[in-house]
Amino acid sequence: DERIARIASSIRVIPDFPKPGIMFQDITTLLLDPKAFKDTIDLFVERYRDQNINVIAGIEARGFIFGPPIALAIGAKFVPMRKPKKLPGEVISEEYSLEYGTDKIEMHVGAVRTGERAVIVDDLIATGGTLNAAIRLLERVGVTVVECACVIELAELKGREKLGDKSLFVLVSET
Ligand code: 5GP
Repeated sequence: DERIARIASSIRVIPDFPKPGIMFQDITTLLLDPKAFKDTIDLFVERYRDQNINVIAGIEARGFIFGPPIALAIGAKFVPMRKPKKLPGEVISEEYSLEYGTDKIEMHVGAVRTGERAVIVDDLIATGGTLNAAIRLLERVGVTVVECACVIELAELKGREKLGDKSLFVLVSET
């Protein structure tokens, strides 16, 4: 697909960010190319329209860039899943482990309802820890997670395996 090729080549890799040894996939250069950005959104919209998706759950921070245009195009609500202590209302949260220590994501109580169908959106899956926590959070309140959707997958980290039987859709798989 020529759209995928353009998207892949618009992503910049920055070595040693945020620490030595990390090859950071920088999606801000994708956003600078209006055609690549539009193609990214279109590919997700083509996949999720007519699937009775009620909820696009976006992971802070870059899921807040790709999630809302998808939600608007398919007529779903957008639900932010945020880092701790950012949301002003009552929240429920899920913890997940990092290389050192733990982190948490939070969602507003009442943002979603039992029986709703969600797609979780983020820019990138690495170890899969973040998406795994997001799935648990939504499933705890009775939401069906139809799929997780990312622009980029770091395939060597096998994050896909951490999602169990949950389906993962990615546009670009980096090896
Ligand atoms: P995971 O929980 O799968 O190990 O990490 C995924 C999370 O870390 C995502 O929210 C993603 O935005 C962020 N992340 C980790 N590595 C990168 C990277 O190289 N580029 C970008 N853009 N995000 C990353």
